[in-house]
Amino acid sequence: MTSRVSIDWEAEADLVVIGGGVAGLTAARTASLRGLRVLTLSKGGPTDTSTQYAQGGIAVVAPHGDSVESHVHDTVEAGAGLCDVDAVRSIVEGGRAAVSALTGLGAVFDLGRDGQISRTREGGHSTRRIIHAGGDATGAEVQRALNEAGLPVLFGAAVGQIVTGRGGVQGVVAVSDQGFGVVHAPAVLLATGGLGQLYALSTNPPGATADGIALALWAGATVADLEFVQFHPTVLYTPGGVGRRPLISEAVRGEGARLVDTEGNSVTDGLHPRGDLAPRDVVSRAIAARMRALGTEHVYLDARSIDHFPQRFPTITASCLAAGIDPRTDLIPVAPAAHYQCGGVVTDTHGRTRVPGLYAAGEVARTGLHGANRLASNSLLEGLVVGERAGAAAAE
Ligand SMILES: Cc1cc2nc3c(=O)[nH]c(=O)nc-3n(C[C@H](O)[C@H](O)[C@H](O)COP(=O)(O)OP(=O)(O)OC[C@H]3O[C@@H](n4cnc5c(N)ncnc54)[C@H](O)[C@@H]3O)c2cc1C
Repeated sequence: MTSRVSIDWEAEADLVVIGGGVAGLTAARTASLRGLRVLTLSKGGPTDTSTQYAQGGIAVVAPHGDSVESHVHDTVEAGAGLCDVDAVRSIVEGGRAAVSALTGLGAVFDLGRDGQISRTREGGHSTRRIIHAGGDATGAEVQRALNEAGLPVLFGAAVGQIVTGRGGVQGVVAVSDQGFGVVHAPAVLLATGGLGQLYALSTNPPGATADGIALALWAGATVADLEFVQFHPTVLYTPGGVGRRPLISEAVRGEGARLVDTEGNSVTDGLHPRGDLAPRDVVSRAIAARMRALGTEHVYLDARSIDHFPQRFPTITASCLAAGIDPRTDLIPVAPAAHYQCGGVVTDTHGRTRVPGLYAAGEVARTGLHGANRLASNSLLEGLVVGERAGAAAAE
């Protein structure tokens, strides 16, 4: 038996981008600049993206005391040796140009006293190379700059199918408040983000439901490394809290906060040379083990030694205060939560899948950058670098 749905609207484009976060909008902008008619569809609103919530920053090789090789080394170490080293090097090398393009669009990053872009350190990084904006509101600034780039985006349009034929991609089927629609296009770029909402506790917004993985599989693409889901070690714990939980960025530990258990003992002592700033999987496992051993639902982050906490971390301060915790005087209760999809749709570092005309970039894609565990702040980097290249590849 076959069932038919009537089509309420139709459109045509050279490239359909699915997703309005960092990867999708970067790709859409590049392809538009190269003359393509690009239509971006997003099932949420302009800020219903993981990009909007990114706090810590973007990992970019620093001009002094850093190198591409050092960033590559840290990435591969965090990825438990399962990264594709050539892909890592290629994406890391693209970092500075990608950030320049973003500042060219009007994104503003925090400056240090010397007037240069300020850099912090996060888990797994051997040096301070993370650039940030608005203290701990980097993603919001990236999203703002891209949202204001004037790209046509159809919000509230959820893609349910990528249409393929013998020659590859032919378009997409979507549903919006106008009903069922079809967009005819020879190229489609998946930038649908991650899958955190498949778990009870996550840092991800409600739309992070792995749509891109399903769409890609139905279209005949390959997926890999989906077993590697990164748990962020520190989300704000509140009794009975489920769904999206506020993140307490690793940059808080980068600025000197310490992880202690409910008896006041260090959680990571003797575990790893980088202690509380060990890679995320190491710290998350240590916290989970300590919670099990003590029969508690959280440990604590002691950030009381950080000067000017509210100025440096305004978003985190607001989340803590809303839960009745003042980070200047109180210990912050924290627990691990699902945070990042390390695997995804298999692509090269230009976002190409094995299906002609189908591209993927950002968290939905598996370029080989992350291996078993993403290095902190490497995902905005990947969204910018591969988003740009995928937009260019689609134009070619
Ligand atoms: C709390 C938090 C903090 C983070 N901090 C950092 C950080 O400091 N540094 C860093 O590098 N990374 C960080 N990350 C990770 C990073 O933000 C994300 O990996 C990245 O922003 C993902 O970008 P994206 O463009 O791939 O997807 P997203 O930004 O998630 O955008 C996905 C888009 O796809 C749309 N979509 C999904 N399914 C469909 C569908 N079926 N049809 C139509 N549209 C659809 C959504 O509406 C949305 O517009 C953080 C993530 C979170 C959640």
